[in-house]
Amino acid sequence: MSQHPSLQPLDTIIIGAGTAGLAALREVRKHTKRYVIVNDGPWGTTCARVGCMPSKTLIEAANAFHRRHVFDELGLRGAAGLTADIPAVLKRVRALRDEFVAGALDATNDLGRARVSGHATLLGPSAVDVDGRRYDTRSIIIATGSRPSVPEEWLAFGDRMLTTDTLFEQPTLGPRVAVIGMGPIGVELSQALARLGLEVAAFSTSDSLAGLADSQLNAEMAALLKAEMVLHIGAPAQLREVPGGIEVSSGPNRVVVDQVIAAMGRVPNIQYLGLETLGVPLDKRGMPKVDPQTQQIGDLPVFLAGDANAHTPLLHEAADDGHIAGMNALVADTPTRFKRRTPLGIVFCDPTIARVGQRLADMDRAQTVTGTVSYSNQGRARTALRNQGRLYVYADKATGRLQGAEMCAPDGEHMAHLLALAVQQKLTVHDLLGMPFYHPTLEEGLRTALRDAARQLPQGRDSDLATCKAIGVSALE
Ligand SMILES: Cc1cc2nc3c(=O)[nH]c(=O)nc-3n(C[C@H](O)[C@H](O)[C@H](O)COP(=O)(O)OP(=O)(O)OC[C@H]3O[C@@H](n4cnc5c(N)ncnc54)[C@H](O)[C@@H]3O)c2cc1C
Repeated sequence: MSQHPSLQPLDTIIIGAGTAGLAALREVRKHTKRYVIVNDGPWGTTCARVGCMPSKTLIEAANAFHRRHVFDELGLRGAAGLTADIPAVLKRVRALRDEFVAGALDATNDLGRARVSGHATLLGPSAVDVDGRRYDTRSIIIATGSRPSVPEEWLAFGDRMLTTDTLFEQPTLGPRVAVIGMGPIGVELSQALARLGLEVAAFSTSDSLAGLADSQLNAEMAALLKAEMVLHIGAPAQLREVPGGIEVSSGPNRVVVDQVIAAMGRVPNIQYLGLETLGVPLDKRGMPKVDPQTQQIGDLPVFLAGDANAHTPLLHEAADDGHIAGMNALVADTPTRFKRRTPLGIVFCDPTIARVGQRLADMDRAQTVTGTVSYSNQGRARTALRNQGRLYVYADKATGRLQGAEMCAPDGEHMAHLLALAVQQKLTVHDLLGMPFYHPTLEEGLRTALRDAARQLPQGRDSDLATCKAIGVSALE
């Protein structure tokens, strides 16, 4: 094994140049030149290359094409003549993806010898091997991300077995596609592909779609998805080669498809990383305990950030993890403890699934009031023929303080942000009802849910506009 040319150890080595690694790099660069960032495989981040951005680009095309189904009702003719040119849709996805990747590459292009391509393996808490070359270092930031989980035996289906790593590279898709797994990624992709006109059959062992906790919301979402695709929930999917394609079976259900997308979750890239050399206990997944407020592993000068720690595999959390790790790596003896943001999760299906704040399972239901609204009769949603879905808000019975929310609601991403702001600012239901609600907006639906919660809370002051009640006219709600 060769040695890094410098005799002095590095101040830090960042393993992984994804969102978490780049956020760490931004902080590290402010304080030292004695660092290295190592990345195995393509640079450019999972988010830009194969994650958030290409998936959302695909979803935009899908939703635009799907709107043709309401054109007649809106008085617009000729929808039957519209077609989705799947190769052209995928070409645009890749073109835009390339622009996003180029932006991510800019963050490391000027690093010179501090930018190292190769596979990093820990040799202990103060040394890292990169493809046979040893780097001694005062601290280590591990930000190795995650990868799609695919059963080994399914790899035999070759290029017909897709994951998000390969999906956007396809010249075309379908026409018959199975999506296995209905977590956030499975729900987004199966709906997008169905909306682009492919025959989609989706399979899930879990009742809960995209992690929805409320059973009524889940049932509403399942019914909406079933109107757009075949959805089988329950038994695990089995695959076998048959004449004409791949047969996917689940219990009594069978379908033959041209391609299968495995959307069965992601596993942290911690295998073969050498975590066992750190000398700390590892759980049954091989994961050490990581403090979510410092990102530190025990009291070692080693930090684990982003999807690799499996805490909250979302982009803004990965960026925060990386920021915290980057701030703390150079002062590992006295790490700063960071207060984390209010939990916020958004699934870009339609209606949007979103969750804010405390999880339903963690709330004391006896001490919680629930306010709800159905969007089926909501004024603004009706004008757009997007009157589907429902929203719940949860508030503390004693204080009226908003605890969280869950929804599948039209354009729910925006309401989810408003609600996250409210939860983080510790606002009450009455505080929120005292805010302006413009007319006619989808947020008026949120106000209906808040009013529903307010009815179950002690009455506010009469002089307070928060006590304004609904007039009972659907166009106004
Ligand atoms: C299809 C899809 C859609 C998504 N949509 C959203 C969304 O809408 N919103 C959202 O918030 N999140 C979304 N996510 C999740 C989000 O993309 C991730 O949370 C985020 O990209 C994780 O960043 P990271 O830095 O932890 O990992 P990554 O960006 O994966 O970076 C890790 C890097 O480390 C490298 N590496 C791994 N092992 C080693 C090693 N041993 N040595 C050196 N380098 C190594 C990897 O090759 C990789 O380049 C989506 C993910 C996917 C797949």
